[in-house]
Amino acid sequence: MGVRPEGLYCKAGDFFIDPVRPVSTAFITHGHSDHARAGHVKAIATPDTLAIMACRYGEGFAQKCVELPYRQPIHFSDARVTLYPAGHILGSAQVLIEHGGARLAISGDYKRTADCTAREFELVPCDVFVTEATFGLPVFRHPDPQKEIEKLLTSLAIFPGSAHLVGCYALGKTQRLIAELRRAGYDKTVYLHGALLATTELYERRGIPLGPFAPVPKDRRSLAGEIVLCPPSQLADRWSRSLPEVIPAAASGWMQIRARAKQQRVELPLVISDHCDWPQLIETIHETGAEEIWVTHGREEALVHYCRKAGLQARALSLLGYEDEAGE
Ligand SMILES: [Zn+2]
Ligand SMILES: [Zn+2]
Repeated sequence: MGVRPEGLYCKAGDFFIDPVRPVSTAFITHGHSDHARAGHVKAIATPDTLAIMACRYGEGFAQKCVELPYRQPIHFSDARVTLYPAGHILGSAQVLIEHGGARLAISGDYKRTADCTAREFELVPCDVFVTEATFGLPVFRHPDPQKEIEKLLTSLAIFPGSAHLVGCYALGKTQRLIAELRRAGYDKTVYLHGALLATTELYERRGIPLGPFAPVPKDRRSLAGEIVLCPPSQLADRWSRSLPEVIPAAASGWMQIRARAKQQRVELPLVISDHCDWPQLIETIHETGAEEIWVTHGREEALVHYCRKAGLQARALSLLGYEDEAGE
């Protein structure tokens, strides 16, 4: 296992995981665009992830697609590869590679918090654990998502004449937010900016019921007292000012940083993340039983430092091409 310019590479099986450039064989952990890129000869992923890629890039995004359901091993020369749920978004997977008696697990993006739009994270015991570290600093502690939803519903009750516009990413966060609203008992129609429709419809087609949602109507006045979701980039756009007495909100793990909320002109920050917070990262690292930890995209140094202090071998992989995932 090693790092090449294209990404994480398994020499024993001659394949890449989430490569950032076109390669001959790629395992894709999940559908977010920095992990799932078009143009590979062969793309291997869960059926949901392949459906997401086809929805975003069009059919033919790879020359050949191989559906690999969770827990079904596939062999590449001497290497055996199995996907396990990562709990991040619909279809998201961890990749376990077994070779020469050693087990190496790549987490992809993951979280341990319950989320009915993604299969629950499954712990994969391993010798080497490759973990993401998007929120890899001790200051990051994600609150209970239902508490954040309560903030939104309380604001709706106090300001019934205001459209509550929530910025959230099209894949994963939008559907999670709707699901959390339903869990809190909100059964009204949720209005969606056009850019969020295709992925939300896809979730429903893939068996995740989200209740009534509809595109934003032409007559914006009817949106007083309603919840409207849009991509984060639209929050500060002229479009948002066409909504009645709009209250800008955003759902993201980054909302716990006040400066980020301010920068995006967010008045109602909702800390809802699809990544592990610091305690979840630490817990998972220990639970895997791995003696060696490789840390990738995010705040690598702090987690590497923690692991070494805990007596584990650790290194930062410094893979290039993965974004800061503002949407998380
Ligand atoms: Zn992701
Ligand atoms: Zn990521």
